[in-house]
Amino acid sequence: MDIELISYIICGIIPVIYLFIYIMNENTKTKKKRNYLYGFVVAIVIALILLAIKLLVFTLVIDKKKEDNNATTTTTTVVTTEETTTTKKTTTTVKTTKKTSYDYSKILEPTGGEVIGKTSKGYEIKKVDGLYYVDGYLIANKTFDLPENYNPGGMNKVVSEAANKMFAAAKAEKGFNLYNASGFRSYSTQKTIYNRYVSRDGKDKADTYSARPGYSEHQTGLAFDVCDKNVGACITSGFDKTEQAKWLSENAHKYGFILRYVKGKENETGYMYESWHFRYVGTELAEKLYNNGDWITVEEYFGISSSYDTKPIGA
Ligand SMILES: [Zn+2]
Repeated sequence: MDIELISYIICGIIPVIYLFIYIMNENTKTKKKRNYLYGFVVAIVIALILLAIKLLVFTLVIDKKKEDNNATTTTTTVVTTEETTTTKKTTTTVKTTKKTSYDYSKILEPTGGEVIGKTSKGYEIKKVDGLYYVDGYLIANKTFDLPENYNPGGMNKVVSEAANKMFAAAKAEKGFNLYNASGFRSYSTQKTIYNRYVSRDGKDKADTYSARPGYSEHQTGLAFDVCDKNVGACITSGFDKTEQAKWLSENAHKYGFILRYVKGKENETGYMYESWHFRYVGTELAEKLYNNGDWITVEEYFGISSSYDTKPIGA
């Protein structure tokens, strides 16, 4: 049994017993009666002493506990503060990353990122802020997707300047009135477009000519569809028959552009031939892919796939 409880019983019950006996023995001799009274008083005194000790110890314990608590509180505060700071730091980092994860002016020359593998032809595949680069070139096809929040909001400046040069050259050489008919498209715009095609032609058919949201090269801000103000066929297979398409196919590389979806190479690119769709890669690679007029696809050159069934790692 608890010692504290025993002392409570002793201190509380003994005086009561003495008092009870004292009252009950009213008729006994005064001396004997007085003894009971003494017993009662002594028991009360002992009880009070015990109570005093108890209070003293209790106070000391409380003080000790308070000290301990203060110490603990201090520690906790420190820890909490540190945690808060860490959390704040993390939140800030995350927010900063989200806000500035894409320096759209540096999309053509990315820094950092991690190497995730190599292509079948030995080119390095890097992942930079969710974007896939092969040998330093941003790739967007059916295998290599783009993050939903990647949104440059328009054409890349370097690309639109190169396009304007190309259009000016076409005007000067041939009198063409080429223009960018469809350039940058956001994830959500692509979603709307793709879904419209799916409801019109079905998913399988739509997949041959329209990218699913997050897979479109138009979302990169590095690609666009060319039309001519004096040509009726705009972003349709009929454009292939035009002088404009011929000129573009033979000259686009000089301005850093490639014919992205080459005729007869649907199995490589994952898309049907598009004589109007051009992608900026810079003159160095464009020259190689131009291949003296026999266009090589990005997929063939780097040894990558373009399929919704294939993931970027080990592609
Ligand atoms: Zn296009």
